[in-house]
Amino acid sequence: MEAVTYYDDGKPIKNHIEIGLDFLKPKTDCNDCQVDPCPDDPIYSGDEYVCFNCEVNQVQEKHPEARYTDSDDWIVQRGDLR
Ligand SMILES: [Zn+2]
Repeated sequence: MEAVTYYDDGKPIKNHIEIGLDFLKPKTDCNDCQVDPCPDDPIYSGDEYVCFNCEVNQVQEKHPEARYTDSDDWIVQRGDLR
């Protein structure tokens, strides 16, 4: 795997890897999220949207040590990802 240097507040962070965000789900009780109106209809897939607040909450729940980089990626220390 290629070594990537991430930046947080302009400071380089080494030995971190990016988290995949497939687990994010829009919250039905959130006004800013958009929930897929017809989960079984592929025409509407792609309409789902997770607002940044809910993204932060869900990422921190799953990866309490995650950091948000200047390039809008979530990263964790290499080896911490399970
Ligand atoms: Zn939300």
